[in-house]
Amino acid sequence: MQVQTALFFETTEQIYARVFRELRPRTPVPEVTVRFCRFANVNSNIRMEAGKIEVRISDLLEGAPAPIMEALAWILLSKLFKREVPRIYLHRYRLYLNRRDVRRSLHLVRQQRGRKLLDSPRGKYYDLEAIFEDLNLRHFNGLMARPLLGWSRRPSRSTLGHYDPSHNAIVISKLLDCPKVPELAVRYVLYHEMLHLRFPVEHRGTRRCVHTPEFQAAEREFPQWAEAKEILKHL
Ligand SMILES: [Zn+2]
Repeated sequence: MQVQTALFFETTEQIYARVFRELRPRTPVPEVTVRFCRFANVNSNIRMEAGKIEVRISDLLEGAPAPIMEALAWILLSKLFKREVPRIYLHRYRLYLNRRDVRRSLHLVRQQRGRKLLDSPRGKYYDLEAIFEDLNLRHFNGLMARPLLGWSRRPSRSTLGHYDPSHNAIVISKLLDCPKVPELAVRYVLYHEMLHLRFPVEHRGTRRCVHTPEFQAAEREFPQWAEAKEILKHL
């Protein structure tokens, strides 16, 4: 005779239905479809159309434990109903994304699926490679390995520089490749991004520490630091 153990597994759709009932106890639960998609990042989205709920989740989360899927259901459904996400779920979800193994697979996926779009480092006015090598000698004893380096394809005003660890690339906004912009400003933005290579992001629980105290101290070692900041403020 076999002893049967009753096991109860909730499907992802059932998780959404349960959370829906908690958020909208008087509304009948609509049909829910969940699809896992190959995004280049941990994106997820939700929409309600013709009385049906459609959820698309990054396939990176396909094997995530049920409590994580539940947390994401709370996040997405709260967003759909323009309600504040309960902090416990937000925290649980973020903690998961910050787990070392999860970060590692995210990093790999970004590397494989994301496309890094950048233009040659030799701009119309400034040559990023030449500036990089000069900064490298002056501030890093010439020991920093040169990452992929280039001007952004579009002149971004909000992101003047960016270091992408997945592609080991520094991208500087094309906005700065202009005769009206003093070289000091370009040097400073590039120096800042080089410090991101020197001081990798630290993860503490759910927090990502990007500009650590050590980072900020090193930043102030840049000659004409205040002057450079002033120029950037007026761009
Ligand atoms: Zn930064």
